[in-house]
Amino acid sequence: MTSHRRRVGVMGGTFDPIHHGHLVAASEVAARLDLDEVVFVPTGQPTFKQDREVTAAEHRYLMTVIATASNPRFTTSRVDIERPGLTYTVDTLRDLRAQRPDVDYFFITGADALAQILTWKDSEELWSMAHFVAVTRPGHHLSVAGLPPNVVTELEIPALAISSTDCRARARAGEPVWYLVPDGVVQHIAKYGLYREPAAMVAS
Ligand code: ATP
Ligand code: MG
Repeated sequence: MTSHRRRVGVMGGTFDPIHHGHLVAASEVAARLDLDEVVFVPTGQPTFKQDREVTAAEHRYLMTVIATASNPRFTTSRVDIERPGLTYTVDTLRDLRAQRPDVDYFFITGADALAQILTWKDSEELWSMAHFVAVTRPGHHLSVAGLPPNVVTELEIPALAISSTDCRARARAGEPVWYLVPDGVVQHIAKYGLYREPAAMVAS
């Protein structure tokens, strides 16, 4: 019997809120790279977002669970929100690998996040921990120059010009976020008044 090593995508993000751009990216990578699962990992305090208030981790986690619940191949992990301090990808991958040493991980990142890859903590070590998949994103140019060969796979995915920043601005202005985020996420935002400062900015 041939044993198949499980192929698991890792979609890290602030997910403030999670939107259909994230979900399409994960779904497309899963189909193209024949992944068995994609685990969504909401960040704790994101390294690159110290300039703005990020919504409580528990809300971002819950929205991610709601958004991924209907897909049997999508799961959500708490490793980043339970680790104190800033979130670094190297720690995310270490924790996931400790939980499941017997799987192959594929870290999925958009063109904008990849641009920062060389500045990540312990970036040389990252390449041995996972394969990296860079997906296209409207408004961001995909450039993998300067990386070691064969560590990053570039994938063109259907272009959805959606960002969490825009979703937050819409919610704050009372404009619709329907169809930009999953229905359950629309309802979670409304239920807790997220992005209507200052009420939703509770401490995590
Ligand atoms: P924000 O506007 O707050 O930065 P965001 O929309 O960029 O939010 P993040 O949580 O920062 O969402 O992104 C998580 C990951 O998903 C990153 O790797 C990012 O490049 C990728 N991503 C986000 N939106 C898209 C999209 N529309 N298409 C493809 N990839 C995306
Ligand atoms: Mg972003």
